[in-house]
Amino acid sequence: MNIPAQIGALKADMTAWRRHLHARPELGFEELETAHFVAEKLRGFGMEVYENIGRTGVVGTLKGRHGGGPSIGLRADMDALPMTEARALPHASRVQGRMHACGHDGHMATLLGAAAVLSLDRAFAGTLHFIFQPAEEGRGGALAMLEDGLFERFPCDEIYAYHNSERPFGQVVIYDDVVAAAADRFTITIHGRGGHAATPHLAVDPLPIAARILLAIEALPGRLTNVASPAVVTVGSLHAGEAFNTIPDKATLVGTVRCFDDEIRSQLEATIRRVAESEASMCGARADIAYETLFAATVNTAAHAGFVENAASEIVGAGAIVRNPAPELGSEDFSFMLQRRPGCYFLIGQGDPDHQAVAHDVNYDFNDGILPIAAGIFVRLVEQRLGRNR
Ligand SMILES: [Zn+2]
Ligand SMILES: [Zn+2]
Repeated sequence: MNIPAQIGALKADMTAWRRHLHARPELGFEELETAHFVAEKLRGFGMEVYENIGRTGVVGTLKGRHGGGPSIGLRADMDALPMTEARALPHASRVQGRMHACGHDGHMATLLGAAAVLSLDRAFAGTLHFIFQPAEEGRGGALAMLEDGLFERFPCDEIYAYHNSERPFGQVVIYDDVVAAAADRFTITIHGRGGHAATPHLAVDPLPIAARILLAIEALPGRLTNVASPAVVTVGSLHAGEAFNTIPDKATLVGTVRCFDDEIRSQLEATIRRVAESEASMCGARADIAYETLFAATVNTAAHAGFVENAASEIVGAGAIVRNPAPELGSEDFSFMLQRRPGCYFLIGQGDPDHQAVAHDVNYDFNDGILPIAAGIFVRLVEQRLGRNR
C-alpha cells in the first residue's frame, strides 16, 4: 500500500466526515443536511460550489493553476436506504428507519478527501468537477442531474466513480466494458371479474392467469435469450384477493428484469407484454402493463479503465488489481452518466473480519480503512490525466 502523504494525513478527517454522515442518513432527494455538509466542506477548500442540481445534488468546481486542459468529473452518491441499522456502533444512524447501508457515506468522504488534497496546490492543467449525486437507490438521481443540465453546465471529458465491495480489503476490481446490469421494473395488473368461489363459471378469475404469467415470464431467460448473455426475470410481489371463498376482480404482479444487453432488454420487455396480454385475453380478462427502466447497464470504456488501473496500481500495487471478472446482476445509476460521457466505474474491496456484512444488510458498515485507498486513486488519476507541476 502506497498512500500519498497528503491523503494519509487526512485519514482521521475523512473518517470523521464519514461517521458524521453515517449518523445522519437521508433518503433520495431528501439529502438536505447531507448536501449542506458537503457544500460547506467544498467551499472550505476554496471551490466554486453549485447546489440544488437535480434537486439536492451538489457540484464543486476546481480549476488547475496551470491553465486549460481536459475536464474530469468525479462522482459520489449521497442517499441512504429505508432500513434500521442493527449494530449499536458509536456512529450508528440516529434516525429510525434510515441507514447508510450501501456505503454512500464513505463515497462522499472519499470525494471530499480527494477534493481537499487536490485543492491544496491545484497543480494541474484542466478542470475538476466533484459531483455529489442524490437518489442513487432507484429514485433516479443521476437522470435528475443530467436533465438539469449537468454536463452542459459542468462539461466533463471523462467521468469516474467507485463503489465499495464485499471483496477482500484493498482489492480493486476494474472492468473494460460492462460492470453492472440494467434493471427494469414491471407491474402487470390482470383485470378479471370477481364473484363467488362456488360459481367460477360466472366470474373471470385473475389468479390462475397471474400464476401462468408468472411461470411463463420467469422462464424466459435461457429460452428466449442467449445463455451466453445472462438475464434474470424475477416477480417479487404477487397480490390478489382477500377471502378464501371469493374470486377477486384483479391480480397484480410486480417484478424486475436484469440483464447486460440492451437488445435482450427490449426483447424481454416485448415478450413480457405479449405473454401477459395473450394469457389475459385468452380467458376474457385484460392485462395492464407498466414497464419502466430504472437503470441502464453500466458500461466502461477500456481506455479509461486503463487509466484507473494505472492510478490504482500506484496505490495498491498491481497484485491487488482484478481485471474483468464475471459481472454481477446488481445495478448502478452512474450508468446514465456513462451513457453520455466515457469513463470508468470501479470497485474497491472492503472485506475484513470487522466488515463481513454485504451492502443493504442491516449489519453493514462502510470500512473507513478504504478511504485513503479510494481518495488516493482519485488523486493519482487526476495527476496522471491532467499532469502534475507542468
Ligand atoms: Zn445500494
Ligand atoms: Zn450503492
